[in-house]
Amino acid sequence: MSVLDTQICSSLWKATIPAKVKLFIWRAWRNLLPTVYNLQCRHVILNDGLCVHCGDPHEDVLHTLFQCDRVRQVWEAANFTNISSTQNKDSVNDYFAIVVSDHHNKWEVFLMICWSIWLERNRITHGQSPQDSGLIWQGAIRLLQQFQDATMRCNVQSGTIVDPLASIWQPPPYGFVKIDCDATWLPSSKQVCLGFVARNSEGEIIFSEAKHVEYSDTVLIAEAEAVWWAIKTAHEKHLTRIEIETDSFVLYQSLFNGKPLQQISSMCQDIKDLTSTFECCHWTFVKRGGNEIAHSINRWALGDIVNFVVNGLVHHESSGCILTDTS
Ligand SMILES: [Zn+2]
Repeated sequence: MSVLDTQICSSLWKATIPAKVKLFIWRAWRNLLPTVYNLQCRHVILNDGLCVHCGDPHEDVLHTLFQCDRVRQVWEAANFTNISSTQNKDSVNDYFAIVVSDHHNKWEVFLMICWSIWLERNRITHGQSPQDSGLIWQGAIRLLQQFQDATMRCNVQSGTIVDPLASIWQPPPYGFVKIDCDATWLPSSKQVCLGFVARNSEGEIIFSEAKHVEYSDTVLIAEAEAVWWAIKTAHEKHLTRIEIETDSFVLYQSLFNGKPLQQISSMCQDIKDLTSTFECCHWTFVKRGGNEIAHSINRWALGDIVNFVVNGLVHHESSGCILTDTS
């Protein structure tokens, strides 16, 4: 196996998608799907050996999942432009490689769309009418969210410590918003700035805020205030699936493992009560390097002695962090 094959294989088995879809994708990857072409190679006699969408007589796995004009419309509707607009590739592996390298955050969506395209093809084979391209990919998203909800529901308040050696920002799963929170403290002037940046699985900023607060007794209290404010804002914006990320290990432990420190125990309880209203809330701890963007907006707000609220953007001095995080 090449390095790329190993990467595709491991990404497939790690994906949070139904087992039957993993098996289907593996069969597609190994050219084992019962397409018209594969059945003809096995000397199976078909009444009408043509693509159900366009009548092409060479309906192989590549045509079925990626190259039929009708299927390209589905990829286009789902915003996988690298797949819909690319010149025809020679193997299924080439298409998988595009997603693993260029659209990695949408890997699970990609796998589910392949599955929905196959289901649609089989529906038409059995005499049903074709669905709109948009409905096909939206159906894939719905199946993915239902599956991920079901697997994560028992895990509503789960926590993860990102590999502390990596110190890099990781995007949240599809359908989640990840909120990086931070408190920045200037002991000399006793100024504290709280800030957070919320991003989706594509790394796009959904909203961000930073503000000055009255002098907090300790950095830990300020960190807890930043987290509480971020969760309250997410609640007001009617988000349902969130990941909260902090670079304060003491706070992470207080919130998630065992007894909180006395000085923040009531704040931790408030935070837990508020997060219990979300469908899913996942906690992550990351070292400063993975939370640089929240630190950066605070530094900027401290320097200018202003509060700011931005939806969809951050100040240009923080924009370098977005590129670093998503590259
Ligand atoms: Zn076709």
